Amino acid sequence: MLRRRAAALLALGLAAAPAAHSAPADAPLRIVATSTDLKSLVEALGGARVDAESLAPALHDPHAVEVKPGQIARLKRATLLVRVGLDHEPWLAKVLAAAGEPRFARGGPGEVDASRGVRLIQTETPRLRADARPHVHGLGNTHYWLDPENARPIAAAILDALARASPPDRAQFEANRRRFLERLDAGLERWQRALAPWRGTQVVVVHETWPYFTARFGLTIAAAAEPTPGVPPTPAELAALIARMRESRVRLVIADPYSSPFLLRQLSERAGARVVTLGPSVGGDPAATDYIALFDVNVKRLVEALAAR
Ligand SMILES: [Zn+2]
Repeated sequence: MLRRRAAALLALGLAAAPAAHSAPADAPLRIVATSTDLKSLVEALGGARVDAESLAPALHDPHAVEVKPGQIARLKRATLLVRVGLDHEPWLAKVLAAAGEPRFARGGPGEVDASRGVRLIQTETPRLRADARPHVHGLGNTHYWLDPENARPIAAAILDALARASPPDRAQFEANRRRFLERLDAGLERWQRALAPWRGTQVVVVHETWPYFTARFGLTIAAAAEPTPGVPPTPAELAALIARMRESRVRLVIADPYSSPFLLRQLSERAGARVVTLGPSVGGDPAATDYIALFDVNVKRLVEALAAR
């Protein structure tokens, strides 16, 4: 029974990747990810057996990703599309329509939805009308890769898909995963130790990019400047937030690279808060060369900002 199921999966995997047939047997698997973070995890697991790329650049507002025709051509030749899922990539529907590859559609045999094994938070966020804003966390907060513990279910989903696409490489992918998880465990210990003195500190975020990260490392988000994800505060909402920050002495704002400079200036000048910009994605900072390094960079920056408050 198990063997039959494996054979069926194998057939599915091969059927899912007609483009891979024409390539030589030892050619790397072409994998397209929607983000540099997922690309980094694909590379950690696939090693030399994968040739991965990201549709979104390292520094981007998730509202607006411009995908180039060359990327669509490469997606058509890819074996797998690995995505964040939920409503994180509102721009992907257009890309998939242009590529015209139904195997990458939701639930299709070439699609890897990395959110599937992850326990989401903020699933109670009220849903806006679909046309109101493109990125509203309407199904739960989509920035789940920023809790390093979530790399485990994400890696499991990627490993599964890679091994299905190339069954003879399964042992190699498993070995790569073990090595990656050793680095992750060592990292978690390092990051927890570095942030331990600031457990319970209240911070304000601009976009709700950081709740997974802050929950893992014991910081408390007192408020988000965006009243609804993707919607900037009105002047009245901003004034109320600033009053609240002064009252409860919240002195640190976590911003994203694409946060409004005007808003950040208001928060720092009127609320007397320090602003630290963290990197949501691999490659946004030259030192954030891979998934593990992304956390090293962010933890270092956060510790410096917390100490200087
Ligand atoms: Zn978001």
